[in-house]
Amino acid sequence: MTPPDSTETLAEPHDIAIVGGGPVGLALAGQLLRTTPWRITLIDAATPARAARDPRAIALSHGSRQLLEQIGAWPVPAQPIEHIHVSQRGRFGHVKLHGDDYGVPALGYVVKYGDLCQTLERALARAADAAPGRLERAFETRIDSIDQGDRNESAVVQLTGTSHAEQEGMPVVFAARIAVQAEGGLFHQQIQRLSPGTEATRRRDYQQTAIIGHVTCTQPQPGWAWERFTEEGPLALLPHDEHGQPGYALVWCCPPEQAARRLALPDDAFAEELGQAFGTRLGRFTLVGKRHAFPLGLNAAPITVNGRVAAVGNAAQTLHPVAGQGLNLGLRDAFALADSLRVGCTPQALQAFAGRHRVDRAMTIGITDLLPRVFAVGGPLAAHARGASLAALACMAPLKHALARQMMYGARG
Ligand SMILES: Cc1cc2nc3c(=O)[nH]c(=O)nc-3n(C[C@H](O)[C@H](O)[C@H](O)COP(=O)(O)OP(=O)(O)OC[C@H]3O[C@@H](n4cnc5c(N)ncnc54)[C@H](O)[C@@H]3O)c2cc1C
Repeated sequence: MTPPDSTETLAEPHDIAIVGGGPVGLALAGQLLRTTPWRITLIDAATPARAARDPRAIALSHGSRQLLEQIGAWPVPAQPIEHIHVSQRGRFGHVKLHGDDYGVPALGYVVKYGDLCQTLERALARAADAAPGRLERAFETRIDSIDQGDRNESAVVQLTGTSHAEQEGMPVVFAARIAVQAEGGLFHQQIQRLSPGTEATRRRDYQQTAIIGHVTCTQPQPGWAWERFTEEGPLALLPHDEHGQPGYALVWCCPPEQAARRLALPDDAFAEELGQAFGTRLGRFTLVGKRHAFPLGLNAAPITVNGRVAAVGNAAQTLHPVAGQGLNLGLRDAFALADSLRVGCTPQALQAFAGRHRVDRAMTIGITDLLPRVFAVGGPLAAHARGASLAALACMAPLKHALARQMMYGARG
């Protein structure tokens, strides 16, 4: 699509403009094409090639697989997680979860961010072919502001930005009846500004950075994922092949200065430290792939809907990666929003979305915010109490199952 020039506002506004074609924006567009009659514009600051370069491996829950199946975006090249082992470094008490206990082939799947986006792109192209004229795409087009004027009067939202697609730095304007922020978190301030008087954005700096990368070991246990709480932060190993090499995707959360030091270590010294932090269950860590760092924080907008603007995915909430919930919640955001928009492109439909999604969102934010903080409390007494809680949880089947279902399906489960 050629974006309109600066002087031109689309004569006839589109029904829904989605800002951000990451996994959440792509899934939302796909589901809207499938279940509503609306015309959609999907705008992204980059091209699909950006996603292919993203180094993240993501754990998708069984519930997310079901959502992706609905829009034809499954299978994705993936490694199944059949069992999960949760423990505390150097302490007693652990919990094991097994897919068999929940009648699912796997509790979740480890996918590459790039593979997931590619599969979603293909599914969206098929859905667009089946719904001619209902999807327009604008690549390399960054939206800088969303304006809904007097939001009680206006029936149109105006999105302004800059396109680098055909001409460097060309100003662009889009108009739509509904704007959805799916741009991964840059517009938090704006949602708040649009609604003066709402409580402040919920933020927390965990003083942790995640080191991610691919590692191999001498005694891999296929199908098992490991979440190990250390005094520095959670350390997750997710079953994941890289370039045909079976191994694990590592997400090692630790204080920023430790992360910087570990990123600079030679591979063998890094593998040695990883072994000290994780223990010997997987033997010795051998090959270590390229390492990357992601600073961690909670950033949750107080509201996800304001007039004709809604936020989904990381634009609505950026979570700590413990228990791998960010994208899983983002996909549930997208599907709940698409469902609410079936009745019309109205502020009321957006309010209905916010209402029905509130509990799921609050619970997921609460759990992922609580876990890293509870496990960060120092001292032997606290560590002992946590060990006792893990041991008790392992014996209390109803509580364990409720937690597992929340992780797999969110509050809808
Ligand atoms: C280390 C790490 C590990 C993680 N592990 C997991 C996990 O195991 N499981 C899980 O569920 N989640 C995990 N997550 C979270 C997950 O990566 C995010 O929740 C997910 O990527 C959010 O998707 P999104 O589409 O909302 O945003 P993004 O993936 O950030 O996509 C945003 C898109 O918007 C575009 N964009 C940005 N700004 C603009 C603009 N102004 N105008 C137009 N377009 C714009 C970007 O180009 C991009 O394509 C992890 C995150 C990290 C950092």
